[in-house]
Amino acid sequence: MGNIKAALLLKCPRCEEGNLYESQNPYKVGKMMEMHKNCSNCGLRYEKESGFFYGAMYVSYMLNIAFFVTATVFWYAFIEDIIDWRIYIGTYVLLTVLLVPIIFRYSRSIWLIMMIKFEPEKRGER
Ligand SMILES: [Zn+2]
Repeated sequence: MGNIKAALLLKCPRCEEGNLYESQNPYKVGKMMEMHKNCSNCGLRYEKESGFFYGAMYVSYMLNIAFFVTATVFWYAFIEDIIDWRIYIGTYVLLTVLLVPIIFRYSRSIWLIMMIKFEPEKRGER
């Protein structure tokens, strides 16, 4: 496992400095999925080979399951008696849709730190 801080900050997995995404705002229309080709600091090519990011789908799947489990446990523990389950399902679906850009970005950044070694000596290359 690589550098978790880089994954959380959506930074280059190797040097933790360059941004992965062109826009820092995941909800910017048309920019949600736009990644830089290379790290602006150490030059790492993010998409190592074509199809590299297919593996991120598994990460995305796991993040969605984690979200579902957390939301459901929370519902049973705290709000089952207060609100109707249909409202819960509706809210859950709405949140899932709203979270798509965020889960997309984190699944790629987590996939990158799983596949690429952190090399702190690459910091400040530029
Ligand atoms: Zn880098």
